Amino acid sequence: MIYLDYAAASPALPEMFASQELFSGGCRETEQARAQIARLLGGDPAGACSVLPRMGEEPAHRPAGSVRPEEIIFTSGGTESDNLAILGTFFRAKREGRPLRLLTAATEHEAVLQAVHAAEEYGEIFGTDVQAWVLPVTAEGAVDPERVRKMLEEIRAASFRDQTSDPIILVSVMYANNETGVLSDVETIGQICHEAGAVFHTDAVQAVGHVPVDLRRLPVDMLSASAHKFGGPKGTGFLYVKRGIKLEPLFFETGEKAFSGTYGVLGMSQALAYRMAHLSDEYVHVRGLRDLLQKEILQEIPAVHVNGGAWNAHCPSACKESRLPGHLNLSFDGIESASLLFMLDLKGICVSGGSACAAQSGARSHVLEAMGLSSERIDSAVRFSLGPETTEEEIRETIRIVKETAAELRRLRG
Ligand code: PLP
Repeated sequence: MIYLDYAAASPALPEMFASQELFSGGCRETEQARAQIARLLGGDPAGACSVLPRMGEEPAHRPAGSVRPEEIIFTSGGTESDNLAILGTFFRAKREGRPLRLLTAATEHEAVLQAVHAAEEYGEIFGTDVQAWVLPVTAEGAVDPERVRKMLEEIRAASFRDQTSDPIILVSVMYANNETGVLSDVETIGQICHEAGAVFHTDAVQAVGHVPVDLRRLPVDMLSASAHKFGGPKGTGFLYVKRGIKLEPLFFETGEKAFSGTYGVLGMSQALAYRMAHLSDEYVHVRGLRDLLQKEILQEIPAVHVNGGAWNAHCPSACKESRLPGHLNLSFDGIESASLLFMLDLKGICVSGGSACAAQSGARSHVLEAMGLSSERIDSAVRFSLGPETTEEEIRETIRIVKETAAELRRLRG
């Protein structure tokens, strides 16, 4: 089996199993994991080492603005993390008696889109003034930061005109798209949000552990991540909530407010430590193989199109790349993705059509639809997602099999 579905789940790293065995579920381990994740995302080079800090240990040189352990909230994964960011903000608005304005993008994961929808519904149920907007994206799948700026200006102008009390404005734009790998310019979008007094959340489920994420530098108030996307245990994730950002909890324990998710956090922090320590090598390896796969398929098979990020004016200036290193979303003219996926599966290649969730529900990809692609192109889309364990041999074999299978399917169609 050649596994090219890393965006759905990354194989668990041995490093995390070792730490899981030590995990007794106690507060000590939970705090160790929290401290380590804070260091890893805080841009502190000491955080990249895989040695667990001792309970209560602080890095000797905490740079100004670095991430603190208490800013990491454990969750059961990316979905809960996204939901907590949005619905936790809703309940804060409700508690403070303020209107809530939500701004997100059409290519977001359903965990964000459905939470925004739920916030609108809760608004009606609880009598809180909630309004939401979903921004369109470019043909390459990127959010134009200037659109965010314009929309925020309009929201502010409307509140002033309608004399609504000072609204809480929450913008949620993903770091990297799960279907196309397209990266958002979170730096510029975050700055625009802060200039407009809005809170900025980013779903970084596909990005953490794959591209550098330095929360000291990024103007991000909340960030979601999920362990099984970077080699950690399934059922674990976290939400970074910058100090000063108020959020109401969604889960409660006896006596005190709590957020869910403790089991597996040590495995998650160890997996992240491993990924961060090997980030540049893995990036170069994965990207090299993805570029090889793309180049050869486009050369060897006629009428194939790359979906998303081929040219992205809004790519993050810092990394000069418009896509995640391992993602490749391709449409094959005249071939239904369901048939191609089926045939590839029979021949031992595991890829997916769009996102794993959309493929299971049989729904058409809302991401490719939002990019304005034709229905033929959407229905013939396949997502290849590579990981650090992918080998050149596997990629060369994939190219051979995809070429052979595409020709067979096109012949059958006549
Ligand atoms: N956000 C993005 C971008 C994702 O790709 C996923 C999962 O594929 C999620 C959120 C949900 O994460 P989880 O599966 O951990 O709930």
